[in-house]
Amino acid sequence: MRKMKPRSDVELKDVTNYKIGGRILYFCEVDKVEDIVEALNLAETEHLPFFILGAGTNLLASDAGFPGVVIKPVLRSIELEGSKLKVGSGLLVDELLNFTIEHALSGLEWAGGLPGTVGGAVRGNAGAFNGETKDFITEVISFDTKTGQLVKRDNTACMFSYRNSIFKAKGDEVILFVEFNLAKGDRGAIAESVQEKIDFRKIRHPLEFPSAGSVFKNVDVRSAPPELLAIPGLLIKNDPFPVIPAAHLIGRAGLKGLREGGAMISEKHANFIVNFNNATSSDVRKLIEKVKTEIMSRFGVRLEEEILLI
Ligand SMILES: Cc1cc2nc3c(=O)[nH]c(=O)nc-3n(C[C@H](O)[C@H](O)[C@H](O)COP(=O)(O)OP(=O)(O)OC[C@H]3O[C@@H](n4cnc5c(N)ncnc54)[C@H](O)[C@@H]3O)c2cc1C
Repeated sequence: MRKMKPRSDVELKDVTNYKIGGRILYFCEVDKVEDIVEALNLAETEHLPFFILGAGTNLLASDAGFPGVVIKPVLRSIELEGSKLKVGSGLLVDELLNFTIEHALSGLEWAGGLPGTVGGAVRGNAGAFNGETKDFITEVISFDTKTGQLVKRDNTACMFSYRNSIFKAKGDEVILFVEFNLAKGDRGAIAESVQEKIDFRKIRHPLEFPSAGSVFKNVDVRSAPPELLAIPGLLIKNDPFPVIPAAHLIGRAGLKGLREGGAMISEKHANFIVNFNNATSSDVRKLIEKVKTEIMSRFGVRLEEEILLI
């Protein structure tokens, strides 16, 4: 039987969308439970932390690297039985959508252009265009790193909520397989709907540069200070509850185009900090702090990061 081989020649900048981050002590691609157990044993024996990595589209990794074991699930199976589609968590959302188009399965069109893996999308209940990852999920199978057991959950047991799930809350399970129940649809209409979302993103997002998407969470109107809500012309949108887009506040503060080393607040979308020229993690972190300070002093709002800093 093939033994999982940890690699020590991988840098976080090679395996994250931001293309930032130093060396990983042990990088383990895993495609079965035995591999995960081996990787966890390695971490335990050497008293090291471990981290589960998808496509790295929602995180900013440290220039100092990761002094532990990075576990990357590369399970990419696709099984279709009637309208039930069971896929491996390492499959890219993009690949999943291509399959649904090919087989005329409707329900996931909202995810057109959503970067990342199925596992990452399930963990954060990723969403866009009024859709959420949870919408058509019937079952998730994960591996509990604490108990060493496989766990099977139906949709309710996954406790999905806005950009959240039991997997994010617990933080100690590796998502392995996800089952969706999709409806039969019209192949052309599905393809067109997916393409619309991709085209929209191309216009709105600075996809020409590496990034981790929106850096800050939008501000929930329900917890916003009254002085902020009184500002004339303030933009409020539904996401899916009323929020003030962080991009709107950053734009109003005149911070678009602000640079630090190789990082820049995008001119196209103010909630994106892009890596336009070999940025370091520290460049991005400095910009994050500048934005937070400026938004607090101008609007009295504490912005919180949407991306994960590791
Ligand atoms: C240009 C751009 C646009 C974006 N647009 C959107 C958007 O519209 N909506 C949205 O919600 N997000 C968006 N994002 C953010 C990102 O794409 C999503 O959060 C995505 O679902 C993350 O998936 P990933 O595989 O890259 O996860 P990673 O970034 O690798 O990891 C994110 C988290 O998930 C965990 N994780 C990953 N895989 C597993 C697994 N198998 N088991 C357990 N935990 C796991 C990691 O430990 C980490 O905590 C965007 C990002 C970019 C760069």
